[in-house]
Amino acid sequence: MTDHPPDHSPRSHGRLTISASAAPRDLMDGQRVKGAWTAKVITLFPEAFPGTLGLSLTGKALQAGLWALETVDLRTFGEGRHRNVDDSPAGGGAGMVLRADVVARALDQAALGTPGREHWPVVYLSPRGRRFDQAMARDWAQGQGITLLCGRFEGVDQRVLDEYGVAEVSLGDFVLTGGEIAAQALLDATVRLIPRVLGNQASTEEESFSEGLLEFPQFTKPTVWRTRVIPEMLLSGHHAKIAAWRKAMAERLTRIRRPDLWRAYCAAHGRDPDEDQEQ
Ligand code: SAH
Repeated sequence: MTDHPPDHSPRSHGRLTISASAAPRDLMDGQRVKGAWTAKVITLFPEAFPGTLGLSLTGKALQAGLWALETVDLRTFGEGRHRNVDDSPAGGGAGMVLRADVVARALDQAALGTPGREHWPVVYLSPRGRRFDQAMARDWAQGQGITLLCGRFEGVDQRVLDEYGVAEVSLGDFVLTGGEIAAQALLDATVRLIPRVLGNQASTEEESFSEGLLEFPQFTKPTVWRTRVIPEMLLSGHHAKIAAWRKAMAERLTRIRRPDLWRAYCAAHGRDPDEDQEQ
């Protein structure tokens, strides 16, 4: 895979590949709540953002300034006339590697105005990283923001990750061509936990993983669909019984589908993972 020099012809949407300044591009054109949780995304493809984050609830919250999104265009920090950002791997082999000096300049730019790492993690999206989960999303949502570095090609020169103490986080055990989709997934999961983003906070408390369980099955109208009926309990109007039914369903689903989560849940609640659920 090679790194092509930038194309200077205007795109159909009128934006050039290179932005005129090295300053991060603020993707929120509405107002901004002072001190709002902010994501800074270092990427070769700023046009990929906000992407799906601009839609629905995360998009409305972005417009409302409940969180902010800035892209840092890695290309602007490239070397020479062609703004080269990558080179061939030391030791040989296929593909290209993002240069340490180029990535460092982008990280320096992104670091401007950010607090210490305990309130503002600096993360490289990477299949080698720790697997992202709901606990990480909760943790990040409680900070002030995050800097995400999206890799491309074969990844990033190890030295810049070591030098800047960048944490590696993975979306899962598969290989994407770039970090942008992973960044959006991580941001979506995180931003929806920021107060007022979902509007209805209760919905994040009951859903999958929040208590270490998968969510119970959901139903809505019509009451009968293709002869399939909604479990009678849910139509009973008896809130305590409904809550108990949902809990039992969540436990059963978790036990069957995710024995790993089930064992952790039982350990946390002093329960025997092998107890008979059907009684
Ligand atoms: N050669 C690398 C993969 C590079 S894929 C390896 O084998 O580990 C190119 C870029 O896509 C990576 O730099 C990373 O930023 C992103 N990426 C790929 N898979 C990912 C995953 N599972 N989670 C997060 N980011 C990923």
